[in-house]
Formats: sequence, structure tokens, C-alpha cells
Amino acid sequence: MRKDWDTYFLDIAYMASTRSQCSRRHVGAVLVKGKKLLGTAYNGAPMGVPDCSEAGCMIVEEYELAPVDGEEKLVKKQRCVRTIHAEQNLLLFTDLHDRDGATVYVTDQPCWTCANMLANSGVKEIVYHRSYPKDAEKVEKLMDQLGIRFRRLEPYTPPPGVPTERVTS
Ligand SMILES: [Zn+2]
Ligand SMILES: [Zn+2]
Repeated sequence: MRKDWDTYFLDIAYMASTRSQCSRRHVGAVLVKGKKLLGTAYNGAPMGVPDCSEAGCMIVEEYELAPVDGEEKLVKKQRCVRTIHAEQNLLLFTDLHDRDGATVYVTDQPCWTCANMLANSGVKEIVYHRSYPKDAEKVEKLMDQLGIRFRRLEPYTPPPGVPTERVTS
């Protein structure tokens, strides 16, 4: 069966995510306008310095609110901060002119910082697959305020052979 455009571009985002060298999280993002692919990106260390596969992840521990047995509790979480997020790399390597009115397909629901940057980038639509509940509420509110279409593609199955398990907490 022929793939629809949403599936096609999210598949490409997943292919981009396989370039990531962070063992904790593989995220891919692509910029699309008028069914044309204008950029691809994944999470990674800045060019010219060792990445997570060479230098190990750069772990920070933070407490964040998370639901535990139906109650909001402070839970200690670990994150790797070595990498530039896929969405941020996408913004670094695309033109404002190309982004104007474009759509971003991203494997994971953007974190707050990425969402905030995307909101100011000219894009008019964001399509993601895996949810990221931590920041979902404020991100959805922001997109709503700005009239940016924000949707999860479902049902959707990533391309075969692409590792999709999330190692991160
Ligand atoms: Zn890492
Ligand atoms: Zn992010």
C-alpha cells in the first residue's frame, strides 16, 4: 500500500534519528514545505567535539513532577545534556525563508525549550509520534495561543529496523 505523506515524512524523521549517537535518546526531525523536504536533523553534540558514543553521555540529575500511583510527586530523573536537540539542529541548519509556513515532522513530542524555539521559527505545523508528557500541557497551550497546528500522528508504526525503544527515563 502506498504511504500517505504524513507517514512518509515521519518515516524520514525516524531514519534521521538513526544517525544519533546518544544511547539514551534518538530523535529525528525534518522540515517540509509543499511536500518538499527542506532539512533533516537529529540530536547530537556540536560538530568537532566527541559525541556520546565516544565521550559517554553527559548526565544531569533533576527532580521533576511526575505521576506516581495517581499522585504528582517529585521524582529524580537523569538526562543527557551533551546533545543539541534535533529540533534545535533543524533550526540551525535551515533558512527562515524555508521555515515560513512549513511543517516539522519529529519523532518525539518536543520539550518545552524546543517547542518555544519552534514557536518563533516561522513553522505553522508540528507533527510528532512518541509523546513526552513532561512538557505536554504547556507546549500544547503555547501552540494553541499561536495557532500552530500541533498533532500526534496515530495510528503510526515506525519503519522496520529502526530502534524505537526509549532508553531514557
Ligand atoms: Zn547522550
Ligand atoms: Zn528538545
